[in-house]
Amino acid sequence: MLSRQDQSQLADFLDYLRDAARVELGYPVAFDIDYQELAPFLSHGLNNIGDPFKHGSYKLNSHRFEREVVQFFAEMTRAPQDDWWGYVTNGSTEGNLYGLYLARETLANGIVYFSQDSHYSVRKNLHFLNMPNIMIRSHANGQMDYDDLRESLKVRRDVPPIIFANIGTTMKEARDDVGVIRGILDELALERHYIHSDAALCGGYAAYLEPRPSWDFADGADSIAISGHKFFGTPMPCGVVLARAKNVERIARSVAYIGSFDTTVTGSRNGLSPLALWCAIHKLGEQGIRDRIRRSLEVAEYAEVQFNKAGISAWRNPQSITVVFQTPAAPVRDKWQLASSDGISHVICMPHISHEQIDALLADIRHAGGEAA
Ligand SMILES: *Cc1c(COP(=O)(O)O)cnc(C)c1O
Repeated sequence: MLSRQDQSQLADFLDYLRDAARVELGYPVAFDIDYQELAPFLSHGLNNIGDPFKHGSYKLNSHRFEREVVQFFAEMTRAPQDDWWGYVTNGSTEGNLYGLYLARETLANGIVYFSQDSHYSVRKNLHFLNMPNIMIRSHANGQMDYDDLRESLKVRRDVPPIIFANIGTTMKEARDDVGVIRGILDELALERHYIHSDAALCGGYAAYLEPRPSWDFADGADSIAISGHKFFGTPMPCGVVLARAKNVERIARSVAYIGSFDTTVTGSRNGLSPLALWCAIHKLGEQGIRDRIRRSLEVAEYAEVQFNKAGISAWRNPQSITVVFQTPAAPVRDKWQLASSDGISHVICMPHISHEQIDALLADIRHAGGEAA
């Protein structure tokens, strides 16, 4: 048993978390889904080691839930029937590492093209994998500059391209268009290519936006990473990675110790996160996800309008829940936990964010004297 003092330390920490959550507008984390059903599973040694689709020797896993979760996302991303595979990761950094790894094993000597606005972890992943790469310029709105991509591809027509597409960049939620990228590859007759979609945040709802962004398997992606703790607000970081099965078979290796196939990045894997994602998709269903993204878009529109009305210029990409504005004064930035980079900040209107929170942030910015960084 914990001592009285230890218990009160934990209770204080809980209060701290509740307070901090009320003034968190800068990161893509949803707080509206309750995961209390997971509590009894904390007393079991859950570990999802091995391939979720293969029998393994260790039985205390949630593979059956993991398979259902991955199936849900495979349908959502229009994965090719009988040629997809996936697993629940620790997040999109791992999902992106996995996609790039499959790309490297599929296209020997491939060069990775990624944009200036790609997530900071991409460089690290490329360094881990020792893959040659070229950074492509992006436009002010955060989207990849397709002319720069075309020109760069032309210069290296002798090597197969691996395109790392951002389906919602971290700072501006800009979406690279997989259809347009495919068009450029076709135009240059670059038949051997690989496209990975980094859909960390937007993968949670891109399928339900109208018009539908071009980002999934049917659009031409070969692998896709989605985070679970962002739009689905799971209580621990997690995600889903999906890929074409034939590319995964190339790297699968049977391992006697676990009595299964070693197809995942890590050995031991979180067995609670597939349960959390399973709860999320069962509680929400497709309609629940549609309702949540509609609410987010409505709040984002509200925020954009209110900021501009107050004389603080703010903008967002089409169909985006990320509202971008000049970085406010340090105390405001700190209080509201606003991610900031190159002089800009954003609020990400996750489904639990209210008009009142937007109003309160705006009041703080005005009180602090507008846009002084
Ligand atoms: C958040 C994010 C990542 C990293 O995802 P984690 O789940 O935090 O590892 C990668 N790419 C983009 C575009 C992101 O926004």
